[in-house]
Amino acid sequence: MVYVNLYARADALIPEGAGYVLRETKASSFPLKGDKVTPDNPKEHHLQDVTIQTWVMEGSGIPKTRVELNYLNNLWRYPGNDDYSGLFVQLDVSELVEVRKPQVPVWIQEAVTVLSGDMPVITTGKQCNDPYDCSFQSYCRQFDPPAPEHPIELLPDAAGKNLAKKLRETKGYVSILEPAPAELTGARAELYRRIQLAHKTGQAIVVPGCSARLAALPYPRYFFDFEGIDLPVPRWAGVRPYEQIPFQWSCHIERRPGVFEHAEFLDLSGDDPSLSCIQRMLEVIDPDDGGPIFVYFVTYEKGRLEGFAIRHPEHAELMQKYIARLVDLLPLVREFYYHPEMRGSFSIKKVLPVIAPDLDYGELDEVQEGTGAQVAYLLAALDPKTTAKRKADLEAKLRTYCRQDTWAMVEVAYFLGQLGRPLRPREIT
Ligand code: SF4
Repeated sequence: MVYVNLYARADALIPEGAGYVLRETKASSFPLKGDKVTPDNPKEHHLQDVTIQTWVMEGSGIPKTRVELNYLNNLWRYPGNDDYSGLFVQLDVSELVEVRKPQVPVWIQEAVTVLSGDMPVITTGKQCNDPYDCSFQSYCRQFDPPAPEHPIELLPDAAGKNLAKKLRETKGYVSILEPAPAELTGARAELYRRIQLAHKTGQAIVVPGCSARLAALPYPRYFFDFEGIDLPVPRWAGVRPYEQIPFQWSCHIERRPGVFEHAEFLDLSGDDPSLSCIQRMLEVIDPDDGGPIFVYFVTYEKGRLEGFAIRHPEHAELMQKYIARLVDLLPLVREFYYHPEMRGSFSIKKVLPVIAPDLDYGELDEVQEGTGAQVAYLLAALDPKTTAKRKADLEAKLRTYCRQDTWAMVEVAYFLGQLGRPLRPREIT
């Protein structure tokens, strides 16, 4: 469709009565907690996108009956047998589009002005990643003022970022060293002040008390990590769009102090890995020995175990037993340790280099984090063009990465427990 030199391509024009429904498909799911996509409030950039298409459609003389956004329905579960009839849910946004339509000529004029002018000089900011990452960031950063060595945005988590924004806007602070401790407020004020002190002194801060808490936990101790894949269009029965399905896990088991074994699971068959994953867990993690299962960021592992319980109710009791034994190392680090080189982050990738600098994720080649593991899975398990040699290579890299992740947890637990460095197995790089 072309109108006033503006080209627009509709995802679908569906005949309806004397005209067509304009349907724009998005990769977002609906409804989705935290995504701000609700029946009354779809994403603004989705509305602007479909408004421009509607403007071009009507201007070029194609009759329109309605305008719809077509989202992945994240309440729907794939029933199997190639039946995808419930995959999408449609949201009628005709009225919201009508409200925005008079703006389209203004947007066009603004775009034409930018395109016909000199290269704008603008500093980077929130606009560079919202709603999407802008590809000009490396160019625009040259115009940014030099960043302070300890920016105020080192304050962690959403509340910390909001506080940083408020302090920057109201007080003009750009460095975390500037606020008086009393100005670092909120539920995590003590943490923010500790982070500030660490950056002021350049010294790590250890809060006493964690070793006693860890020492109270029994053996065997399990150090466990899932890797999962979240496909927008599910392949396996019972799975929702973007539902994370584990295809791999690693577990270091400390049977008694300082004595470790390693066990793992990896399914690159392309079939639903869930039942074999549960079966292997059952073989490795005794459901009744009561040993703590250490994880790092419990939300992820707990969510996967809950997902198994829903899709495979015959294992729900087992999953509940495992969930009850999860011990999250991340909040323990947050409560008891901070090093300025963590740069306001409690991610294990930031913690490990300061407590075990010889255990380097950078050595891990192409699979160094969760996204890399997902790409490796897609290539190895689901891409028919991947050769057997390449698949074997990806499998080895996935195993190495996941094993290192759980060994990293061992290092963190030993550090917090003030137990010195654990004796590293030969296979850990
Ligand atoms: S990176 Fe993109 S969004 Fe950010 S200032 Fe440059 S052009 Fe604008």
